[in-house]
Amino acid sequence: MNRVRAAAPQLAGLVPYDPKYLPAEALLSANENPRDVDDEVRGLIAAAIARVPFNRYPDPLANDLRDLIAEANGLDRSCVLVGNGGDELLFNLALAWGGPGRTCLNFPPTFSVYAANARLTNTAVVDIARRDDFSIDEEAAFARLAEGDIDYVIVASPNNPTGLRAPADFLERLLDATDALVMVDEAYFEFSRQTVRPLLSTHENLVILRTFSKAFSLAGVRLGYILANPGVIAEFQKVRQPYSVDAVSQAIGEVVYRHRARFEPGIREIIEERARVMEALRATAGVRPFPSDSNWILLRMDDAGAAWDYLYAGGVLVRDFSATPLLENCLRVTIGTPVQNDLFISLLRGFVAERGERRARAARA
Ligand code: PMP
Repeated sequence: MNRVRAAAPQLAGLVPYDPKYLPAEALLSANENPRDVDDEVRGLIAAAIARVPFNRYPDPLANDLRDLIAEANGLDRSCVLVGNGGDELLFNLALAWGGPGRTCLNFPPTFSVYAANARLTNTAVVDIARRDDFSIDEEAAFARLAEGDIDYVIVASPNNPTGLRAPADFLERLLDATDALVMVDEAYFEFSRQTVRPLLSTHENLVILRTFSKAFSLAGVRLGYILANPGVIAEFQKVRQPYSVDAVSQAIGEVVYRHRARFEPGIREIIEERARVMEALRATAGVRPFPSDSNWILLRMDDAGAAWDYLYAGGVLVRDFSATPLLENCLRVTIGTPVQNDLFISLLRGFVAERGERRARAARA
């Protein structure tokens, strides 16, 4: 066998993204929508796909979908760009605003893809760790930005995996304080009901990320988009793969976006269930749930790894963050259907009760 030379040095030690997605009765690990697209919309999607010419390349810019999104947001088409999931657009951000000799500002613990993209593109990362309650250390952020070498900043609002949105006044002050490109990742904004979109008219340095994967039940389809001023969109266009959004995804996205009001009851149910699960967790001894504006809850408890095993054995897959710095003993549970949430709560309480008995026996022994 002939040998191959080493891959690019920035790949050394890099671990491929692994969502640890395993089969389970209740899939509560990936912040997906527990309800699939309804049958009527599915029928419309089937009809739309039937009209797609498979032998032709898709519209590179997905202009029909772009127009729908632009109109709904009171913007021009030139302010919208569609990507192959939000993930592609996050990578494009690092390609367009990062690179050798460039620096991004990051607020861990946050979505791990931000730092991975920086590494892949040889972008330096300045981390400002969140406080114990996972709020951003605002003064540290402003002090670091004042040094003038930050090229882009990413703030997830709500922040995955911790749960809360960033304060609106902080985001505005951040945008005012720098000419770095500030990405506000609003992948979950439909659950927080807060957006910085109005600031697009006053801030050329703002780019907002959204996705079809969560509120619109399309994680399997891969569609995301950004909103920004035309000059920023033009730079993203330079680095994107020409046909990254295939014709089938474009067709599906157009149908779903036209019918997005149909997803509102599901979004409301998730928000109501979030409050119910939060109450149940607060009432469970030894479990500390963190407040959430999104479609999941992060919690901290002793023996989180053993709790994960217990939940999985009972049919519930959640995400274990115990090995992530600043998230020791933390699990993240996506809000599912009421039945899935009940199963999760009863299993977690079962784990806590059994552990209590074990500890009591050990103390007596
Ligand atoms: N941003 C955040 C904060 C996320 O959690 C995710 C999904 N895990 C994304 C962006 C990207 O989502 P997608 O690629 O499915 O659009």
